[in-house]
Amino acid sequence: MLRAVDAVARGAAQNALALVRPPGHHATPRQAMGFCLLNNVAIGARYAQRALGMARVLIVDYDVHHGNGTQDAFYDDPDVLFISTHQYPFYPGTGALHETGIGAGEGATINIPLRAGVGDAGYAQVYADVVWPAARRFAPDLIMVSAGFDAHWADPLANMQLSLHGYAHLTRELVAMAGELCAGRIVFALEGGYNHDALGNGVLNVCYTLLGRDEIADPLGASDWLEPSIEKVVDDVRKLHKLV
Ligand SMILES: [Zn+2]
Repeated sequence: MLRAVDAVARGAAQNALALVRPPGHHATPRQAMGFCLLNNVAIGARYAQRALGMARVLIVDYDVHHGNGTQDAFYDDPDVLFISTHQYPFYPGTGALHETGIGAGEGATINIPLRAGVGDAGYAQVYADVVWPAARRFAPDLIMVSAGFDAHWADPLANMQLSLHGYAHLTRELVAMAGELCAGRIVFALEGGYNHDALGNGVLNVCYTLLGRDEIADPLGASDWLEPSIEKVVDDVRKLHKLV
């Protein structure tokens, strides 16, 4: 994890993917939790700040679960913007809309709690209407991504409907954000994902995107269920965080 951050921050690599196991985003500064021992992304972000001069770090978490450990680590820090999309209510129980940070960190935590069943269209809308404007306003020096593939429709632990194409779109949006906002500096770290085909191909698609290739591997196809509307939660997040 640290070598990936180091390479990107120093310009030895344009971008990176850290294939870390176990995942990290549930681990708090003091406690292992939910398959996670150490919070890889949080440690990487602090390292980038303290050792590499990356003052402002944006962390985007598209794992299906709320990244409670990452939120805890930076809840009072205005220089780390944490944005999480997650199924809600769901494990670990945190990630409500009104959890927005504390003290100087107020507003630097953006939770987008989504009902079960949201898929490619809903996630794309969240990125267009919330993640993009929040990222532009924050102006990061580095973007880090908690890349979990358990929001895929075939995942056995959760109930969202992203396809591999939908995931690839989000990945491309994040890489485009890094290109526009921080000279392309972006580091992905693997989080959860419990269907092996969704996980493996999801990782492959991140690699394609980071290498600037157009192809998308999607042997699983799309879910054919209708997605629920997410207008209200997007509207609520935009108002609460003054993105309108
Ligand atoms: Zn997860």
